[in-house]
Formats: sequence, C-alpha cells, structure tokens
Amino acid sequence: MLDAETLKREYVNEAEAAGAMLEPDGIGIHAAKLAFGYINMARKLGAKIHPSSPVMGWKTVDGVHHLTTPGGTVKARAVAVATAGYSPPGLHPKLKQKIMPILSNSIATRPLTDDEREECNFKTHLVMTDTRTLRHYYRQMPDGRVQIGSRSAVTGSDAENPKHLAQLIQGLYRKFPALTGIELDYSWWGWVDVSHDMMPRIFQPDTAKTICYAMGCGGNGVMYSAQAGRRMAQMLAGDGAGLDLPIFTSPLPGHPLAPFRRMGQRMLYHWYYLRDELV
Ligand SMILES: Cc1cc2nc3c(=O)[nH]c(=O)nc-3n(C[C@H](O)[C@H](O)[C@H](O)COP(=O)(O)OP(=O)(O)OC[C@H]3O[C@@H](n4cnc5c(N)ncnc54)[C@H](O)[C@@H]3O)c2cc1C
Repeated sequence: MLDAETLKREYVNEAEAAGAMLEPDGIGIHAAKLAFGYINMARKLGAKIHPSSPVMGWKTVDGVHHLTTPGGTVKARAVAVATAGYSPPGLHPKLKQKIMPILSNSIATRPLTDDEREECNFKTHLVMTDTRTLRHYYRQMPDGRVQIGSRSAVTGSDAENPKHLAQLIQGLYRKFPALTGIELDYSWWGWVDVSHDMMPRIFQPDTAKTICYAMGCGGNGVMYSAQAGRRMAQMLAGDGAGLDLPIFTSPLPGHPLAPFRRMGQRMLYHWYYLRDELV
C-alpha cells in the first residue's frame, strides 16, 4: 500500500488520490497488436480466418450448424461463440438476453511537454484505476500521451453525445490539473460484455455439447479472453473434464427484468454518480 505522499513523489501526482495499492505485475499492452499476433499465429497453425463475415443466421439441422454470412453459409459440427459485447441479439436462443452490453469510452491527449510531465510528476507507465463505481482507468502511454477512459452513455444512440466526452475530460482535469485545456488527439468508444451477475462464463449450453460460449468478462477481457479461448477449445475437443470452477459449470444467468434493463441502468448510473461524486 502506498500513502499519498509516496504515490505522488515516486509514481504520479494524481490530484484526487488519497493513496494507492500497487500491483507491480500489472501491465498495459497494445490490444490491437495482440489481436494481430493471435491472427498470425492462428494462420500459421492452419486456421482460416474470415474477417467481415458476420454470422447473421444460425440453424441447426441434424446436428450440423448452418451459419449464414453475407458471402455464404458455413456448415460446422461445433461452434465457439466469442462475440462479447458485439453479440447480435437473436444470434442463438441459448444466448438470448444473457449479456448486457455496456459502453466504455476513452480519450488520449497529445504527447505531454516536459513541463507538463514534470508537473504531473509522471514517473510510471503503469495502468491505473480509481475506486469509483463508475471508475476511471488511465495511464501515461509509451509515446507520452495520457489516456483515460470510463463508462459513458447507456445506449449506442447516445454514445456521441458531447456530454459524455465532457465528463471524461473533466475527470482528466481533476486528476491532472496541469493538463487543463490540453488538446486531445483521439477519442473512441466501444461495447464491453457484462453478465447479469458480473461473472464470466465458459460454458456448453446444449445437451449435444457442440456449442460453447465464452462471455461476460465485464470489460476486463484482454487477459481473460486468451484463457477463455483455450478453455473453449478444450471443451469442444471433449477435453473439458476437470474444469470445475463455477464459471465452467453454470450458464450465463438471464434476468427477469431484462427488457427494462436500460431503464434500470440509467437509474443506477445516476445513483453511482451521486455516490461517487457527492457522498
Ligand atoms: C474502450 C474500451 C476499453 C477497454 N479497456 C480494457 C482494458 O483496459 N483492459 C481489459 O482487459 N479490457 C478492456 N476492454 C475490454 C476488452 O476489449 C474486451 O473484454 C475484449 O476485447 C474481449 O475480447 P473478445 O475476443 O472476447 O471479444 P471482442 O474483442 O469484443 O471481439 C468480439 C468479436 O466478435 C465479432 N462478432 C460480433 N458479432 C459477430 C457475428 N454475428 N458474427 C461474426 N463475428 C461477430 C466482432 O466483430 C468482434 O471482432 C476495453 C473495451 C473497450 C471498448
């Protein structure tokens, strides 16, 4: 545990922090490079990868799965589903309303000047997160920018609403007052897959055990998904015995109020915001 003085002197002068818990093994990685690394390795091992081929329909006939894509139909004995927060509703009945896609947004400043870096006393590139319920996640990037993200809009149609960007920018200024007014070079957002009990699952929902899904990692999926892929492969190869943690032995739970969950999420976000900022 680091007290505020040690944190600010030896790691970063984060104005809101009252101290920190240091996990020295935690690292930040370039997620897109990791994804391209996986693609290269999979191709070398003989896997065929078809990007831009969304599965738009799924029928199972005599135990064979027929997956319709814009370019044709794929017939498969087994299907592993890893569509996370981007899963289309209605992809498969076993996945109906099991995942709650939640938006995460991020911004990156221009590279800091030496003076700005000194004022923020940025001595680390470690990834950081605060303890709000609607938490911020932030770090100094290898090229000297500061990146910060948080939860944002409730619905995709509201994602571009400038108020969400403004809220994130205010979060940046409060943590690093020396960066007030700094130009932003990048801003982006995307969906993460949250399950109704906040627990991920790697599960075979059909009695024939020809389907497997790995979902519900709640936006912490870069590391989780690598393991999940391996476990899904084991399960579909019939090698899943011994995987007896709860995440392997139960399906993603549904929710009786699923059709109204956006309304509930909106109310919860207000409550979390009040609790985070005012209490
Ligand atoms: C802004 C933001 C910041 C994040 N920050 C972090 C972080 O700091 N740390 C962390 O661990 N995680 C973070 N995450 C979450 C992380 O990106 C995800 O948890 C992780 O990418 C999940 O990996 P995945 O392979 O399971 O799914 P994804 O990477 O979401 O991939 C799902 C794939 O399925 C494809 N797909 C969807 N529907 C279909 C279909 N019908 N047919 C065919 N393909 C389909 C999609 O095109 C996509 O390529 C962040 C996410 C966002 C959006």
